[in-house]
Amino acid sequence: MDMKDQAPNPEEWLRQRIRPEQIAKYLRPDGSDFIDDAHIARCLQPAPLDAGRIRAILDKSLAIQTLTPEETAALLRVTDPDMIAAMQEAALNVKLKVYDNRIITFAPLYLGNCCVNNCLYCGFRRANPYAQRRILRAILAGGNIEVVRADEGADSFRARLEKRFGTEA
Ligand code: SF4
Repeated sequence: MDMKDQAPNPEEWLRQRIRPEQIAKYLRPDGSDFIDDAHIARCLQPAPLDAGRIRAILDKSLAIQTLTPEETAALLRVTDPDMIAAMQEAALNVKLKVYDNRIITFAPLYLGNCCVNNCLYCGFRRANPYAQRRILRAILAGGNIEVVRADEGADSFRARLEKRFGTEA
């Protein structure tokens, strides 16, 4: 395997990309960032859930209005099966209103699974010890994008291009 095609060492990759000066300029004078952790924690405090309030939040969703963090947190705390079923039905209706009966894909395409962030729900998070890191190199060829895998050697990629486009790449 060509060494330059290998996925980078994650720690080294992070060191190369995280620029402290690019972070500092977005911080508040007290050093905090734009995410209000205390507010999020308050929103997630267990609190009695009122079915009428949950239905009002679902109605707001069905009117395609943005929910507040408090309203979103209230939905996250729902455990009643009937209310969860109502949420699922509302979610489907919102989806149909916004996207109709289509499958939506979105760009940009991921060209790698290395990320400097650490969102807990995401397999790309930097602290995920099970992720096999890959960075793809995209090459524009004849108006199409061909992608070479990080673990694919140059000869293999060239052969794939020639097979696809019928010309010497
Ligand atoms: S969701 Fe995943 S890919 Fe996106 S910023 Fe968070 S960890 Fe990175």
